[in-house]
This record gives sequence, C-alpha cells and structure tokens, in this order.
Amino acid sequence: MVHPDTELRFISPEIGFGVVATRFIPKGTITWVQDELDQVIPAERVHSLGTIYSKVLCKYSYLNARGEYVLCWDLARYINHSCDPSCLSAGYNFEIAVRDIHPGDELTDDYATLNLDGSFECHCGTHQCRRTVHEGDIYAYADHWDSVVRDAFPLIANIPQPLWPLVEEKEPLSAALAGSAEIASCKVNLRGYQKRHTPA
Ligand SMILES: [Zn+2]
Repeated sequence: MVHPDTELRFISPEIGFGVVATRFIPKGTITWVQDELDQVIPAERVHSLGTIYSKVLCKYSYLNARGEYVLCWDLARYINHSCDPSCLSAGYNFEIAVRDIHPGDELTDDYATLNLDGSFECHCGTHQCRRTVHEGDIYAYADHWDSVVRDAFPLIANIPQPLWPLVEEKEPLSAALAGSAEIASCKVNLRGYQKRHTPA
C-alpha cells in the first residue's frame, strides 16, 4: 500500500502517469509496504496466462527475490523509475523516502532494485540519469543505494508512519533502529540472493 498522502497525476507524454505527494512526506517516512491485497504471482502462472496478461504484468508488476511477480493493487503500481529516486528499499518489504518529498513531488524508485528482466531507455531527466537502465545495475549501485537508505533509516522512529500497522518485519526493523542489527542491504531483494546466502 502506498502512503495515503499521494495521488495519481499525469507527468508527461514520455513518462505517462505517476504518483505525486499531496502533502509533505518527510525523509524517513515509509512510503510503501507490500500488503495483503498485493498479488504475488508465480512465474509459471504468468507464462501460462498468455500475452495479454504478460504485457500488463510486464508494465505494472515487479519481480521479488523468489522470482515471483508482485502486482500492487493500488497506486503503487504507477510509481515510476528515477535514476535519482525519492524512495528506496533496503532489504525489507517496504520503501522509505530517502529525502523530503514536497507536495507535487513525485514518488519514484530505482527499477534496477526490482529484479528487472532486461533493460530500458530512461527519460527521468535527472542529472544522475543512466540513459539505459540495466538489470545488472544493482551490482554497480547497491552499495550507493544502501548508503542513501542508511542516511534516512534512523528517522523512521521519529516521524509519523501511517503505514506502520502494515509492516510485518517490525522485529528486524526495530532491531536495526536500535542498532542491535545491521540495516538489511537492498541486495537481500535481489533474485536468488537469499538462496545463495542461506546456509544449507
Ligand atoms: Zn534516468
């Protein structure tokens, strides 16, 4: 579920629609949490659904660490990519604002954190624009994204969090906020990462 202080707006002919803040959303706010209404669809099912569905899923869903397609039921599926995103995910099932988001600003994330299947041309228009966003960008940028998230992370405890009731990982999150556990790296959400790093 996306933060309640947002709405869908037309951004530009190149980008289409996007999710925009209707009120000030401070840095450290949880901006999205995977919730019970989001659909998690196994890859085999996607392949058996046929072209019409797979085109829709390709546009509106993302791949999780288990290679399943996650289709958000609400505005979250319109969150656009930016090479200088206002929101990022650490290794949890939620995203946080990594800078202050003012009314009218777009909520964006970096699609390379979402197990891209291939690459795409980017028109985000930021100074950091990579022009082409590749599935392997996570290997080059993960440490940078982790450091951006670490900067915003401690603020989680100090500001209103309307999505807090939906956070399932309260325990590891609280431990990270208390400093008794490390903040999980965004690499945790990389497809196959958990399999490779879980002792047999
Ligand atoms: Zn870009």
